[in-house]
Amino acid sequence: MSQYPAGERTLADMIDAAEAIVAFTGAGISTECGVPDFRSPGSAWKRHPPIPFDQFLADEDMRLEAWRRKFAMDDIYAGARPGRGHAALARLVAAGKVSHIITQNIDGLHQASGVPAERIIELHGNGTYAQCLDCGGRHELRDVRRGIEENGALPACVCGGIVKSATISFGQSMPRDAMQRARRATLGCDLFLVVGSSLVVYPAAAFPLIAKENGAQLVILNAEPTPLDGDADLVVRADIGDTLHPIANVGQSLPQVAEKTPL
Ligand code: NAD
Ligand code: ZN
Repeated sequence: MSQYPAGERTLADMIDAAEAIVAFTGAGISTECGVPDFRSPGSAWKRHPPIPFDQFLADEDMRLEAWRRKFAMDDIYAGARPGRGHAALARLVAAGKVSHIITQNIDGLHQASGVPAERIIELHGNGTYAQCLDCGGRHELRDVRRGIEENGALPACVCGGIVKSATISFGQSMPRDAMQRARRATLGCDLFLVVGSSLVVYPAAAFPLIAKENGAQLVILNAEPTPLDGDADLVVRADIGDTLHPIANVGQSLPQVAEKTPL
């Protein structure tokens, strides 16, 4: 008798048979870590909605408000650690099964789970630091926060540019390098595995269909239906940690990988 419900056994078989998997992750992989997703009812993001890019640029008061909302969200999940989904994907990367993780997440939890940077493609940037919009220089959040909370002073870059959280806001152009890397990875995979995304945010949500049209199998692992379920070869509507943890840990012919020391 199988140890898995039918859907999970099929997913395990497909992972086992694949040569190059791309995992495409969204906010759902981080909910068990205490990072709220965007669209679930009662989400803290609805109490502190991100400011669109044009408004951030237009107005100093808006920039202060954007930072206030960001720090309110940071306070909710600053101590988050990688969960079972991150650990399972890290294991599949280390085993050579997953070539890349394309993520819409900004929480840095794939890096924290031990996945090398060259295997991670962040489509929406990273919320754990700030960046100058002109010169690209890095600024640390603790310095930005101290300046705002102690003096009400917006961060300034030596070049005079505007400093913003290193995330991609609504209305901001997508990072060219990340989009190109994501496209190459997508075209190189034979299994494209969506993990915890509602697949409604474009252009990110185009990648599953690019993979499918290129001949890859498409699997969607998400608690709720998505608009691309009809295009998928397999839809697993289940909890991410519950589903991926056993697959990656007893994983069929996967080479065994040493457990990572917790960071
Ligand atoms: P989303 O909130 O639109 O969708 C998340 C999906 O995950 C939902 O359909 C939900 O049903 C599912 N889900 C939640 N917990 C799950 C679980 N334990 N098991 C299975 N499914 C689960 O998120 P999205 O598609 O990533 O789009 C939101 C946008 O907002 C992204 O562009 C992202 O940049 C940003 N965002 C990022 C984070 C983060 O970094 N963790 C969090 C919220 C929002
Ligand atoms: Zn600068």
